[in-house]
Amino acid sequence: MPSKLTSILVVEDDSQIRRFLKVGLESNGYHYEEAHCGKAGLAELTTRVPDLVILDLGLPDMDGLEFIAQVRSWSKIPILVLTAREKEQDKVTALDQGADDYLTKPFGIGELLARIRVALRHNLQSSGADDEPVFENGTLKIDFVARQVFVSKHEIHLTPTEYKLLTLLARHAGKVLTQRQILKEIWGPNSAEQGHYLRIHMHQLRHKLEDNPARPKWLINEPGVGYRLKLV
Ligand code: CA
Repeated sequence: MPSKLTSILVVEDDSQIRRFLKVGLESNGYHYEEAHCGKAGLAELTTRVPDLVILDLGLPDMDGLEFIAQVRSWSKIPILVLTAREKEQDKVTALDQGADDYLTKPFGIGELLARIRVALRHNLQSSGADDEPVFENGTLKIDFVARQVFVSKHEIHLTPTEYKLLTLLARHAGKVLTQRQILKEIWGPNSAEQGHYLRIHMHQLRHKLEDNPARPKWLINEPGVGYRLKLV
């Protein structure tokens, strides 16, 4: 347990959602801060220095995407965005701009808490506190040092590209990566239009790792967004 209470700033103009988040977060041991618009949110961020931001993309005074761009110019604080269901493209743009994850309204508090834990953990890892040589998730095990992958203790032979793809998702386990982010990491900056490469390799990877590739338990497609290695 962290010695200091983890503080979460909610930037949201809808008072019902704020109340729902306040109750849910405080009853789970988080310190709750709120701002009703983007400008107030930016001011809170600099004065109170919270540990994580929950950001509604539809703010009255500024575009949530602009909010992310401004914050990312000086801070790596984890940002979870809240989106309305019909704004599919916005969440992809938000992730590409540096948001850590998203939740589509309406969402449950359990789902939110899980995403918060993942985002806080990744923030710790990216600050260098935790670089594990082995990744284990259920019966899936990756040994980053030996570059070996096991499912239920059986070694699985992957191509170099499949291995890169799997380890990229594992390094960000629990977190969604957009198609653009994955393509850029694995195939380089000019690969944004090569989505079919990704689909082919993901298909092969699922066939090698998953019991039922049609209903994967680890390699989850987030339709219209990208992929997530689900923590089980
Ligand atoms: Ca709103």
